[in-house]
Amino acid sequence: MGKVLVIGAGGVGTVVVHKMAGLPEVFSEILLASRTKSKCDDIAAQIGGNRVQTAQVDADNVPELVELINSYQPDLVVNVALPYQDLTIMDACLETGVSYLDTANYEPKDEAKFEYKWQWAYQEKFKEAGLTAILGCGFDPGVTSVFTAYAAKHHFDEMQYLDIVDCNAGDHGKAFATNFNPEINIREVTQKGKYWENGQWVVTEPHEIHKALNYPEIGPKESYVIYHEELESLVKNFPTLKRARFWMTFGQEYLTHLRVIQNIGMAGIEPVMYNGVEIVPIQFLKAVLPNPGDLGENYKGWTSIGCRIKGLKDGKEKTYYVYNNCSHEVAYKETGTQAVSYTTGVPCMIGAMMYLQGTWKKPGVFNVEEFNPDPFMEQLNQHGLPWVELHDVHLEM
Ligand code: NDP
Repeated sequence: MGKVLVIGAGGVGTVVVHKMAGLPEVFSEILLASRTKSKCDDIAAQIGGNRVQTAQVDADNVPELVELINSYQPDLVVNVALPYQDLTIMDACLETGVSYLDTANYEPKDEAKFEYKWQWAYQEKFKEAGLTAILGCGFDPGVTSVFTAYAAKHHFDEMQYLDIVDCNAGDHGKAFATNFNPEINIREVTQKGKYWENGQWVVTEPHEIHKALNYPEIGPKESYVIYHEELESLVKNFPTLKRARFWMTFGQEYLTHLRVIQNIGMAGIEPVMYNGVEIVPIQFLKAVLPNPGDLGENYKGWTSIGCRIKGLKDGKEKTYYVYNNCSHEVAYKETGTQAVSYTTGVPCMIGAMMYLQGTWKKPGVFNVEEFNPDPFMEQLNQHGLPWVELHDVHLEM
């Protein structure tokens, strides 16, 4: 039984709180706080039954966070605001003596850089305080990292090649929309590609490497090598990996819109003056794009995300593929959000459960693959994200 403070009332926050509310034996009390309190109130009303309390907080402001945490006294703070708030929330957790969990690594607002260095630098502080910080507990990072740890523990003596494959074969009926926060999403997919090979990072132009990959129940989809943050911690924690890549599917229409957005400067993160007001182009773009949280109603189709791994077991070559397929329609029926928010929110709830039950609890800052994957894998099957394993099949890698 534990008391949890969830910060951020977007698509992911909606799913996290829905799922927590259904498990009173684990999450005895829930406070949902965000910049716009009315969004928290809407989610709490949807869930009903007074299960969720709400509050307003500016998570960029450490004293405000400290005041809220001190007044509520949670056992864990779950950060599903934006990556920009990771460090302020970690600072507030240290000041108030509360453990921390998030789904995305810190990113400075003025630099599109996805790196763990800022959060890993908190390792000694969390250790000394006897607090746990669990980093990247969504689907990717999150489940993909746990899938990799599970493969290493049960199926390989030496993992050599890892391809994380992320397919969204859903159709939301809009000309262009992003599946999670547009600012973060566009910053992520327009950066240079990067993958790990033979002990070093190989950098590519954005979307330079691509091919059609087959996804279970979906078929072939053009997939692109992009940089994704879990690669950084996975190659550190599984040093036998000779190559680690991340593939994501994009439709032609999406890429065309993205190219135009970039070419006309709307993906810019530097402020510009407009009618005497300073605006950041990508933040303005976010204001006019569809809200990812509202895409669910007409979203049809599946996501399929998994890990394809090659390596050695008992001196022989082995291939292994573990994945989850999630239906946008089923996710919407259950929580009112699409599958991308759902596949992020469910693992986030499970990570919080692991902490509160004492299964994933140790002093310091950890990526999820550093914990025991087994109880987490079990919970995925029980809370809407069942996974499938394929052994020794031909893998397109
Ligand atoms: P949304 O933009 O839908 O929601 C973000 C929420 O955070 C909003 O409620 C927003 O408030 C709130 N927020 C923003 N800034 C502040 C602040 N300074 N203080 C308090 N609250 C704030 O994002 P998503 O729900 O789509 O994503 C949430 C997180 O999940 C992101 O960090 C994203 O990167 C991560 N993610 C991780 C994935 C994974 O698999 N690991 C996949 C998808 C997302 P307001 O409404 O007022 O703007």
